[in-house]
Amino acid sequence: MSAIKDISLAKSGWDKINWVKSYMPILNSINKRFSEEKPFAGKKISMSIHLEAKTAYLALTLAAGGAQVYVTGCNPLSTQDDVAAALVDAGFEVNAWRGVTDEEYEEHLKKTLSLCPDVMIDDGGDLTHLLHGECREYGKNLIGGAEETTTGIHRLLSREMAGKLDYTMVDVNDADCKHLFDNRYGTGQSTLDGIMNATNLIIAGKTVVIGGYGWCGKGMAMRAKGMGAVVVVTEIDPIKAIEAVMDGFTVMPMDEAAKIGDLFVTLTGCNDVIRDRHFAVMKDGALLANSGHFDVEINKKELEEMAVEVWERKPNIRGYKMADGRVLNLLADGRLVNLAAGNGHPAEIMDMSFGIQALCLEYLVKHAGELEHKVYQVPREIDEQVAAIKLASMGVTIDALTDEQIAYMNQVD
Ligand code: NAD
Ligand code: SAH
Repeated sequence: MSAIKDISLAKSGWDKINWVKSYMPILNSINKRFSEEKPFAGKKISMSIHLEAKTAYLALTLAAGGAQVYVTGCNPLSTQDDVAAALVDAGFEVNAWRGVTDEEYEEHLKKTLSLCPDVMIDDGGDLTHLLHGECREYGKNLIGGAEETTTGIHRLLSREMAGKLDYTMVDVNDADCKHLFDNRYGTGQSTLDGIMNATNLIIAGKTVVIGGYGWCGKGMAMRAKGMGAVVVVTEIDPIKAIEAVMDGFTVMPMDEAAKIGDLFVTLTGCNDVIRDRHFAVMKDGALLANSGHFDVEINKKELEEMAVEVWERKPNIRGYKMADGRVLNLLADGRLVNLAAGNGHPAEIMDMSFGIQALCLEYLVKHAGELEHKVYQVPREIDEQVAAIKLASMGVTIDALTDEQIAYMNQVD
């Protein structure tokens, strides 16, 4: 039995799904093939991923391939209730609503796994974690799963290294058609979109401090610069720090950056990137946002303890008044600002990520019984298939090597 906020919101959810579908040529072509070939006939799929329109279209595509699909979110604030309603309207089992408590969130994950899936999609590793512990019996049919994001992959690799990975998993994040576009251009645009949506403030002229210069941080820095911000980067990796300097950004420790930033955005996957000693020296009115992982990158507990007053200023902005009168503003409860205060990555980006997801689940089903309990990279053919459809949809053609060129490139002497 589904548990969502309000089924009467379904019409608005369908409008959103139908809108994004028009801009998702990769999933459209996979949807058409799946409808004919039914690669998931008789198969059960559990999904935990941000429940918004693009995700709903992925679920519909898997169902078109013959699967029974149970869906939940992967973040307490990113579920869009109208989209959840549309999926229930389409006959899916959905357990999710925006603003779940920690207990409800976990309950929804467990209900989603109770399907005893053949394959699953995880985003951040929460389903995988339950399948290794409390919900082990729900993993009895699992051929394998596909993990969407960087932090989920870190967790899987730690498990694999420790000899504690009990399932086959595919690393969707490290496919080229995923992280090069989703983590970089997707996060760059949608993080600014979420921040602007919540604050209605200008980016131009602000000093924007970016914690982490990985794929997400690079995208964020590039787009903030493009909008006229003065960009400062903090890092712990010397090579990433050199990259940031050569890309034209100022690099310094957070202890220094804390004093000069107007807007802070963490994109590291690490905890306590911004904490008490940083809050102590920040400017009045500073804006704090996270677009990395969970609500641990900005230490909310220490912020709360330092505050003499805490209040909701407007949707997705909480004010924290310090004893000296300064007010610091936390966006989206320190959770992913692009999904909690916006619609996440754009349709054209999720089309690529979810094209990879759909093809990886098909790959797992096709190779059932052949795969070990380890983390597999996405097969190159899948990356290339997604790239080919994307390029064609953009109306871009490229050159092909001639036989002579291939011979020249491969010559030994
Ligand atoms: P990445 O590994 O490419 O980059 C992370 C960077 O952060 C690295 O360069 C690392 O050295 C740096 N770092 C780590 N700890 C730090 C610290 N304490 N201070 C400063 N820098 C630090 O990872 P990525 O692909 O850029 O992903 C970053 C995070 O964002 C992950 O948690 C990932 O799951 C998440 N993510 C979010 C979205 C989104 O929609 N908001 C999209 C993709 C990934
Ligand atoms: N559960 C964790 C996971 C981080 S989510 C958390 O909430 O903190 C990061 C992932 O969200 C990215 O890898 C990206 O692929 C995905 N994402 C970004 N925009 C999205 C969207 N519009 N719909 C679905 N997933 C999205």
